[in-house]
Amino acid sequence: MRVVPIPQLTDNYAYLIIDEASRKAGIVDCAEAPAVLRAAGDAGVELVAILPTHHHWDHVGGNEELLQHHPLTVYGYTGEGHRIPGCTVEVAEGDVISLGALAARVLFIPAHTSGHVAYHFERDRSLFTGDTLFAGGCGRLFEGDAEMMMRSLSKLTALPDETCVYFGHEYTEKNLRFALTLEPQNAALRDKLAWAVEQSHQHRPTVPTTLASEKATNPFLRWTSPELRATVRRKFPDLPDDDVSIFAKIRALKDVF
Ligand SMILES: [Zn+2]
Repeated sequence: MRVVPIPQLTDNYAYLIIDEASRKAGIVDCAEAPAVLRAAGDAGVELVAILPTHHHWDHVGGNEELLQHHPLTVYGYTGEGHRIPGCTVEVAEGDVISLGALAARVLFIPAHTSGHVAYHFERDRSLFTGDTLFAGGCGRLFEGDAEMMMRSLSKLTALPDETCVYFGHEYTEKNLRFALTLEPQNAALRDKLAWAVEQSHQHRPTVPTTLASEKATNPFLRWTSPELRATVRRKFPDLPDDDVSIFAKIRALKDVF
């Protein structure tokens, strides 16, 4: 398996997933078709499927144009396929999608949208998380609440620590700056921010991250951190001291950061 990140719009990523044995490829999220077609041409692969993570235009806006060039299988979460342009196959939690010899399991992870999915290539230790899990952050709660997002994130963090995470937006540096306001003493977080700043200066992407790195640095996976909880409770002494309240407050603080 080879993964090629393709920058889209201002800070989105599409990912070309290549099965090197069969030269077949799938694309995870497509906002702009021309760059995706160019990347597939450069790699010398046959595009066979679109794997959208969710229905937002900056993740599916290029589907129709891609379909004008190739007949493709287009996946969408069951009952929500009508929100994905060109959807041909609805899938549910646990379904396995084949891409040449590659296999991805569908994980249902709602909250950013009600039909959001991740694609887990278990054998290749790779996970495509769209706008649910970012490096240092999580998606906004457009069609779900804090509790739902915590359940979705927990489903992802239950996978092996070494899993590579390919996310939907290059928000890493800003996410980590926010995280540092909650955990200024977190050394792993400080190191990762320094690295992200350097990547940005070199015009390099910060994908992929790993689940191990996210557990060490991502405030939306660290609601049990004593330092993080103390920071939040210092700012909001009347906040109930339960996990959901802490998580919801972190999300609300990030919304206005
Ligand atoms: Zn989105």
